[in-house]
Amino acid sequence: MNRPDVAIVGGGLLGRCLAWRASLSGARVVLYDSASSRGINSSAWVAAGMIAPTTEAIDADAQIASMGNNSLRLWPQWLSELPIPVFYRDAGTLLLWNREDAGEAARAQSMLAARQAQSCVQSLESSQIARVEPELGTRFSQALYVPGEAQIDNRDLLKAVGLALDEAAIECHWETTLEEGNLPDSGIIVDCRGMGAKGDFRNLRGVRGEIVRLHAPEVELNHMLRLLHPRYPVYIVPRADGKLVVGATAIESEDRSPASVRGVLELLTSAYSILPALAEARILEFNTQVRPALPNNLPAIQFDREQKILRINGLYRHGFLLTPTIVEEVLGLLSGRASGRWPCLDVNCSAAVFGPWNHSREMQTCLSS
Ligand SMILES: Cc1cc2nc3c(=O)[nH]c(=O)nc-3n(C[C@H](O)[C@H](O)[C@H](O)COP(=O)(O)OP(=O)(O)OC[C@H]3O[C@@H](n4cnc5c(N)ncnc54)[C@H](O)[C@@H]3O)c2cc1C
Repeated sequence: MNRPDVAIVGGGLLGRCLAWRASLSGARVVLYDSASSRGINSSAWVAAGMIAPTTEAIDADAQIASMGNNSLRLWPQWLSELPIPVFYRDAGTLLLWNREDAGEAARAQSMLAARQAQSCVQSLESSQIARVEPELGTRFSQALYVPGEAQIDNRDLLKAVGLALDEAAIECHWETTLEEGNLPDSGIIVDCRGMGAKGDFRNLRGVRGEIVRLHAPEVELNHMLRLLHPRYPVYIVPRADGKLVVGATAIESEDRSPASVRGVLELLTSAYSILPALAEARILEFNTQVRPALPNNLPAIQFDREQKILRINGLYRHGFLLTPTIVEEVLGLLSGRASGRWPCLDVNCSAAVFGPWNHSREMQTCLSS
């Protein structure tokens, strides 16, 4: 290949999607990842894949909800352009709580009001909960329902985007570890290494998450369930073929060792308290990964003009929620038409320093000026 327009280092969630979309927009792309094309070393491999902007707004900055709503609009279009189907369901989220935790529900509602997101949420009484999600019966006296929130099968997505890269004949170097200092020659380098960029991305930290995958074909769940609980805010995400994802702990640690007894007990006990029918579920997998996070738990883009590296990181617990928005913004930036709608993605350079793909030489002149 001639010198590529863009070399992407890290082909987990963000890097892989960026490579695919950049190639569709006409760029010559090359992708490097230290692991195999399956993506099993990425945080994305372990994730629950929820795309839940309103629910996340309870504890996150308002920009997360705003970027997430934009992604919610983009995902169906993206998925329709992939070569194989990807499990995606937008039945919404049910927020549940036990009577003694009514204070948590009140807190959630006031946070949603502060984010002006209360109109996205409906209050349900016991009989309505049983109608919306029969598997819950009348165990909960109240719930909040957030219609339209979605979830995506993370592993289906990694596979489908990997195939799209093959179909587009994008040069992919799997099992190739790159560090700053041995980077390839290209128009621009985009660093999407997640936690692999620790040391090169200021203040990046890891937040350990443990997760359990179950098989419970007898449990017919349609919605994502989240327990509002001061200590165990567990979620249950239904996947295809009777599979369920139960997650996740959030521990300020970069320890990737296997899941702890305590973590798994907490997750499974909370999940069982929501759905006693899970007693007969089969445990398919315990897994652990580390979420790449910045001090404000927002994503950020940094531009190193000297080395021509665009570093994107800090997707934290919102990678699936934010990736389409970040990718579109980065493509806009690289072709001189960034929207500037998301302050946390503003970079310390004007979009005008980048030219469109077909003006690579012009772009180089600008970058080196
Ligand atoms: C338990 C858990 C649950 C989650 N649930 C959700 C959820 O429900 N919804 C949601 O939106 N997000 C969720 N997330 C977060 C989401 O997974 C991450 O935000 C997202 O994967 C980050 O994307 P990334 O591309 O930056 O990093 P990653 O997906 O981790 O990809 C980084 C890639 O870089 C590669 N790499 C690293 N170093 C190098 C190197 N030196 N050279 C070459 N390649 C390298 C790695 O092999 C990897 O493939 C969850 C995360 C966890 C851990």
